[in-house]
Amino acid sequence: MPDPRNATPERFPAHDLFQAGAQYIGGRLTKGSSGRTHTVIDPATGEDVLTYELAGRDDVDAAVAAARAAFPGWAATTPGERSNLLYRLAGVLNERAGEFARAESLQCGKPLKLTREFDVPGTIDNTRFFAGAARHLQGQSAAEYSGDHTSYVRREPIGVVGSIAPWNYPLQMAAWKILPAIAAGNTIVLKPAQLTPVTSLMFAQACTEAGIPDGVVNIITGSGREAGEHLVGHPDVAMTSFTGSTSVGKRVAETAITTVKRLHLELGGKAPFVVFDDADLDAAVNGAVAGSLINTGQDCTAATRAYVQRPLYEAFVERTAALMETVRLGDSYAPDTDLGPLVSLTQRDSVAAFVDRARGYARVVTGGEAPGGELAKGAYYRPTLVADAAQDSEIVQSELFGPVLVVLPFDTDDEGIRLANDTPYGLAASAWSTSVYRANRATREIEAGCVWVNDHIPIISEMPHGGYKASGYGKDMSVYSFEEYTQVKHVMFDNTADARKGWHRTVFGEQ
Ligand code: NAP
Ligand code: MG
Repeated sequence: MPDPRNATPERFPAHDLFQAGAQYIGGRLTKGSSGRTHTVIDPATGEDVLTYELAGRDDVDAAVAAARAAFPGWAATTPGERSNLLYRLAGVLNERAGEFARAESLQCGKPLKLTREFDVPGTIDNTRFFAGAARHLQGQSAAEYSGDHTSYVRREPIGVVGSIAPWNYPLQMAAWKILPAIAAGNTIVLKPAQLTPVTSLMFAQACTEAGIPDGVVNIITGSGREAGEHLVGHPDVAMTSFTGSTSVGKRVAETAITTVKRLHLELGGKAPFVVFDDADLDAAVNGAVAGSLINTGQDCTAATRAYVQRPLYEAFVERTAALMETVRLGDSYAPDTDLGPLVSLTQRDSVAAFVDRARGYARVVTGGEAPGGELAKGAYYRPTLVADAAQDSEIVQSELFGPVLVVLPFDTDDEGIRLANDTPYGLAASAWSTSVYRANRATREIEAGCVWVNDHIPIISEMPHGGYKASGYGKDMSVYSFEEYTQVKHVMFDNTADARKGWHRTVFGEQ
C-alpha cells in the first residue's frame, strides 16, 4: 500500500468557485464589465484553472460606492465588535486552511508545504493579531498642556482604502492590506494581481461568512492599467496602499497625488546577505539557499546578493552550489517538492534573460537553465548561483525576482557594509557573524527596513515589514501598520469659559 501521506491531493476545483463572476462587491459576486477576460493558469502544468471577466471602470466605481456606503456603519462599530468579527474570521480561515493552501498552490505554483506551513498559518496569525490590535488604539495622554485647555487625540479611520497587490504572496498580501484597514474601521477595495485572484476572493467570502458586513471588504479583479489606475485616481478613495514593483509604485504615487491621498508603498527589493569571516559557514550556506529560493525567489526580501568575506568565499561558493543542486523541483502538489515553478512563463523567461545577459560578464556556477522532461511544460527554472559579477552590473543591481543568487567577495568590514548598501533598494538584509560587535554594527549601518542576524526571511505579525529608500515607505503587519490606516485628530477644549481669552491680546486690544 502506498503511504497516504505521500499521495498527491487532487487539484483544487477553482473553476467552480466563481461561476457568478470574479468581482466581489457589496458581499456579492458579479461579472466584470470590461468586455475582456483573463485565464488563470497553473504554472506547474500550464493548464487552465479559471477564466473570468476582468473589471472595468464601472466595476471599480460600484465597489468604491459599496465601500463608501458601508463606511459610516463600520466606523461606528466598537473596537471590541470589530475584534470579535476578526477572531471569527480567523476561525473560518482555520476551518478552510486546507482549501486555502491548495488554491494558493494552484494559482502560484507554490509547493503545498510552503502554503500549508507559511502562507496560510501566517495569514491566520495576522488575523488574530489585528483582532487584538483593534482594541489597542494608541496615542498621547489627554492633559492640560496649555494650562487653559484639555487636549487629547482621537485616532480615526480614514475612509475607503484602495489597495493593489502583487502575485507573489496573493493571500498574505490580501491579508496585510485588508486586516489593518478594517481593524481600524476603514472599508476597502482591493485589486489583486490579474494572475492570482483566487485566494483574495476566497478571503473576502470568508469575511462575509464571519459576519463582517457587506461592503466592508470588496475585491476588484482587473488589470492594473484599467482597474488599478482608476482605483488609485478615484476621488472617493481616501488612501492608496500599494505593494508591487518600484516602477509601478512611482506611477501609482503620481496618480494618487492628484487627489492628495494618503499613500503606502511596499516596493521592490534586492536584499544583501553579508557573511563575515567569523560566521558559521554551515549556517550561512543553509541560510543562503533557503533565503534565496523561498517562493522560487519571488520574494521581495529574498537573499539576492551574498557578500562573503574573502577567507570564506571559495568554500561558500562551492558549498552553496552543491546544496542548490539537491533542491527538488517538482509539481507544486507533490509532497516531495521543494521548489515550484515561477508564477508564469513570462516571469520564467524574464529571469532566464537576466541570467543569459550575465553570462557575458559573470560565471554561472550552477543552474542557469530550465529543466526538461516532465517539468518542461511548467514555468520552472533551476536554482542558480552566479559568481564573478561586478558590483555595478545588472544582475547585482536590478531586481530579477527568481531563484538566482549572486555571490561577491569583500575584504574589510567597511567594504562589506558599503557594498550591501550600494543599490537603490532597502527592504531587507542579513548579517552573518559570531561576533556581537560586528553583527551589531551591521544592524546599525545597513540601510534596510529589516536586518536579520544569522538568519534570513522569517517575519512575524508583531513586527513591521516595510522598506527604506526605493523599497518604499509605510509598514505592513504590527501596530505600525495599524497606525498607517488611521488618522490622528487633536481635540482641544477651552477650560476657562472666558469670553476674551488671554491670547486674544495678540490680535486686538491690550486690556
Ligand atoms: P507589479 O507589476 O508592480 O504589479 C503590482 C500590482 O500593481 C498588480 O496588481 C498590477 O496589476 C498593478 N498595477 C500595474 N500597473 C498599475 C497601474 N498603472 N496602476 C495601478 N496598479 C497597477 O508587481 P508584480 O509583478 O505583481 O509583483 C512583483 C513586485 O512586487 C516585485 O517588485 C516585488 O519586490 C514587489 N513586492 C514587494 C513587497 C513588499 O512588501 N515590499 C512584497 C511583495 C512583492 P496587474 O499585474 O494585475 O495588471
Ligand atoms: Mg509585474
